[in-house]
Amino acid sequence: MSATQTTEALEAAERVCARRGVRLTSLRRRILEQILKTDGVIKAYDLIHELSSADHSIKPPTVYRSLAFLLEQGFIHRIESLNGFVACNHPGEAHEIILMICDACGLIHEVQHTDISAALDQVAQDQGFGLTEKVIELHGICRDCQAVGREPQAQL
Ligand SMILES: [Zn+2]
Ligand SMILES: [Zn+2]
Repeated sequence: MSATQTTEALEAAERVCARRGVRLTSLRRRILEQILKTDGVIKAYDLIHELSSADHSIKPPTVYRSLAFLLEQGFIHRIESLNGFVACNHPGEAHEIILMICDACGLIHEVQHTDISAALDQVAQDQGFGLTEKVIELHGICRDCQAVGREPQAQL
């Protein structure tokens, strides 16, 4: 994400927080900024590394608490299959999403699909299963990578 887009996304997050009466503390803001600036997934370990400076190391539990806040507010999504985080492209809105993960360039495309979401609700309901989270992660190759014949990378 470009610097301008990052700034706009941070301002949008500030507005959402103000409306909800929650605080985007400076650490939460810095973590969100780092996730916004990263193309593709960033792991918690890398965030801790990025935010720590020579004279000040950030404690992992602090980072995890901030990540939990950002997840709860819907500013970021957890990518289970890659054990990392990505910025949400339409934060502050309730949404049912599918994350399409390009295994060649690492970009993550977020799309909404209410029919699939409703179908999952139905399946869970039929099984008497109390659904708490519905995140669909699809792996593949994005359009741009297909166009240039880029190959999938081995996952780290
Ligand atoms: Zn989202
Ligand atoms: Zn790609």
